Amino acid sequence: MSLPIVFYIFAFILGAVVGSFLNVCIYRLPEGKSIVTPPSACPKCGSSIRWFDNIPIVSFLILRARCRACHAPVSWRYPLVEALNGTLTLLLFMKYGISLAFLALFIFCSSLVVITFIDLDHQIIPDEISLSGIVVGFIFSFFLPWSGWLNSLFGILLGGGSLFLVAWGYAKLTGKEGMGGGDIKLLAMMGAFLGWRSILFIIFASSLIGSVIGVAAMLIQKKDGKLAIPFGPFLALVAVLYIFYGRPIITWYLSIGR
Ligand SMILES: [Zn+2]
Repeated sequence: MSLPIVFYIFAFILGAVVGSFLNVCIYRLPEGKSIVTPPSACPKCGSSIRWFDNIPIVSFLILRARCRACHAPVSWRYPLVEALNGTLTLLLFMKYGISLAFLALFIFCSSLVVITFIDLDHQIIPDEISLSGIVVGFIFSFFLPWSGWLNSLFGILLGGGSLFLVAWGYAKLTGKEGMGGGDIKLLAMMGAFLGWRSILFIIFASSLIGSVIGVAAMLIQKKDGKLAIPFGPFLALVAVLYIFYGRPIITWYLSIGR
């Protein structure tokens, strides 16, 4: 079944518009501010941003990365988040079309975008997203063909439980806290949406990528022992990889031993 191209354009625009809202969440959630009011304003001069200056990606380019009123520079991260979410939404739409699976994974991936940037900025993962994500993922599992509620429930327990054990073991061995509770709840949320098999993949692949980058960062900074790099973005990256390439990667991995 192939859909007219306007559907795909619409999917990208949908993702970018939601990405614009995600920007608001990224900046306001960690400060405990409302994500609904007040409307967006320039952080420099306080003048409110009118709708025609608030078009995802396009306005940033037209205004050449500056506020219309005071010409203060606007962060390139706004259009980046919009383009990223637009691209993810388009890719999901290409894979799942108009379906409940698309809706579920659209919500899931958008949440991961918010989590990634908040974790990069503040080294926290807000409970508002991870805990409600666990509930939403579990509800979706009753209606999704690949999932099923038992699979989702087991995913929550395995995701939360395994990382809890790793964090506990790390703290016991080193006397330091290496992994935050936020990562534990995030992995439980991933299990809720993607099922328990995804957890094995996500833990294995994110530890691999995380330790390579972690060691590189330690060598560059000449620090040792302490994990200063947030783990959430690695988990998010690998979860997205799992959605699009999980099956072929697992098949390839299992074929190496033969
Ligand atoms: Zn301004």
